[in-house]
Amino acid sequence: MLAGSAFALGRTRATIDSQPMHALLKLISTDFDGTLFAEFEDPPIPLELQELLGALQRRGAKWVVNTGRDLSSLMEALARANISVEPDYLVLVEREIHCHRDSRYVGLEEWNGPCHRLHTELFERVRGDLPRLAEWIQARFHATLYEDAYSPLCLIARSNGDMDAIHQHLEEYCRTVPRLSVVRNDVYARFSHDAYNKGTALGEIARRLGLHPRQAFAVGDHLNDLPMLSREHAESLAAPANAVPAVRDAVRRQGGYLSPRSHGRGVTDAIKYYLAGGPAGELNFNNDPGRMRLHN
Ligand SMILES: [Mg+2]
Repeated sequence: MLAGSAFALGRTRATIDSQPMHALLKLISTDFDGTLFAEFEDPPIPLELQELLGALQRRGAKWVVNTGRDLSSLMEALARANISVEPDYLVLVEREIHCHRDSRYVGLEEWNGPCHRLHTELFERVRGDLPRLAEWIQARFHATLYEDAYSPLCLIARSNGDMDAIHQHLEEYCRTVPRLSVVRNDVYARFSHDAYNKGTALGEIARRLGLHPRQAFAVGDHLNDLPMLSREHAESLAAPANAVPAVRDAVRRQGGYLSPRSHGRGVTDAIKYYLAGGPAGELNFNNDPGRMRLHN
């Protein structure tokens, strides 16, 4: 049984290894803010990128918007962006999975149920420490602190410098509470269970689709994207030019693609780079990045 499984896995890998890169992009995971979507650009999601995502979907690829936003906030932003394509999956609040079904998004209860239960149990354990943490922050920084449905401590710092110091303090605290982690995006932060993040959620979607990490692409710009910007979950990695140094370093270290352009244009470049064959097709891509078109 075991030998048979190993043989089957080996055969799957051999089949994948012999595929051209464009056949391998089966799962596309894009962060939203600062990656896919740039609030102050017109349009906020480039038309060329919308066309590229639509063409990939028509060829059978699944597209995941993997974000820290909740459902209503993401739906509002997508509607304002007047987008012509629809994601197949949403990963919301960096942890919940929602599937596109009959023109709406339905929560994946098998994942979201245990996720919610484990967070509730974990947050009960930290509740007694929250006044002390809030006091430490407020004695040193002007930051907005609040509780929402997803974390008993959410905060917005005045600057990234302030958040660097607060983040470090919260990480030290997390080392004293098993499974607790801090999720940070720019000047925003909240607590989370370390089993649930953009990476593990992407891995679960891939598992359900029967896809190998070699068939997955992930692109992001900030610290909350690091768990999915890992070859454990996606072997084709990318960051736009506006990504923070830690993200660009992580992508570079793993042999991923760093675009010279920001936001959605950077994502467009990255998808085209991998469609052209990734590192193996680099010469063709660099000679004419506009050449790549995906027709049906
Ligand atoms: Mg972002």
